[in-house]
Amino acid sequence: MTDAKLIDGNLFSAKVRESVAARVAEMVEHHKITPGLAVVLVGEDPASQVYVRTKHKRTVEAGMNSFEHKLPADTPEHEVLLLIEALNKDPQVHGILVQLPLPKHIDTQRVIEAISPAKDVDGFHPVNAGRLAAGGDSLVPCTPLGSLLLLKDTLGKLGGLDAVVIGRSNIVGKPMAQLLIKESCTVTVAHSQTRDLPGVVRRADIVIAAVGKAEMVKGDWLKPGCTVIDVGINRIELPDGSRKLVGDVDFASAVKVAGAITPVPGGVGPMTIACLLRNTLVACARLHHLSLKGL
Ligand code: NAD
Repeated sequence: MTDAKLIDGNLFSAKVRESVAARVAEMVEHHKITPGLAVVLVGEDPASQVYVRTKHKRTVEAGMNSFEHKLPADTPEHEVLLLIEALNKDPQVHGILVQLPLPKHIDTQRVIEAISPAKDVDGFHPVNAGRLAAGGDSLVPCTPLGSLLLLKDTLGKLGGLDAVVIGRSNIVGKPMAQLLIKESCTVTVAHSQTRDLPGVVRRADIVIAAVGKAEMVKGDWLKPGCTVIDVGINRIELPDGSRKLVGDVDFASAVKVAGAITPVPGGVGPMTIACLLRNTLVACARLHHLSLKGL
């Protein structure tokens, strides 16, 4: 059997960013409106600083305004809430993203719920989660949206396929399952208490792994020819002391059985920022009652 086709998230995310940039240019030219993304970072978490820098770079490259708000780690919660209130009212800001995790003294859910649902480009506000579940127009969390775009690009129509989502977090697993239901897949959500996980995974035409456990899903769990989307990002130490980024899927064995698979890195990861830009454009268009047909 030949190895699985590699689903190239770097290539596809570049296409998504290009199409967003083209729409932004049209919006600036025809409507004199520049979409704006505000990113709030509280504290100095090194990984978060890297993410925020990349988000800023990509936002500017897409022709959007990028507003960065870096606050010290000991900023009281009410000051973060006041900043969000100001961003909610700011007409130049169409998307608001609060970089997670927040310092422990801040109630993350309270902060998420303070963001106007119309500007909630992470899609974490309960109003957006509810609209997604009810099948309405919502802002969809970026990582599951990016995973869905990769799936549709690889498989075309998804209707009728059996999909297994491993993980039930609000950020990835649950919205991923909702998106696949919307695409008329038959969806199973597996989690830490699922019995016979290999048996459940073996039934799936589509496997989404969003667990946070390095190389947990093995090749012999997979139905031959299935499509595997590996959301996991895990840093492991190799015997020589060097460190390596791996997914939740054991790539070496899975690539021998699957029909198509995302690598880590270079699969879902780059899609997350591309979808953040897409969501900012969508939020801006909705706030200004503009159509984005064909995006
Ligand atoms: P989480 O810890 O919030 O959720 C993990 C889920 O896995 C839980 O629902 C849990 O029930 C399930 N789980 C745990 N152990 C299990 C087991 N043994 N068998 C089956 N299910 C099990 O994590 P999350 O925020 O959803 O993230 C999941 C992974 O995706 C992490 O590796 C994270 O780094 C990665 N991630 C990547 C991106 C990206 O941009 N590519 C974005 C978000 C998260």
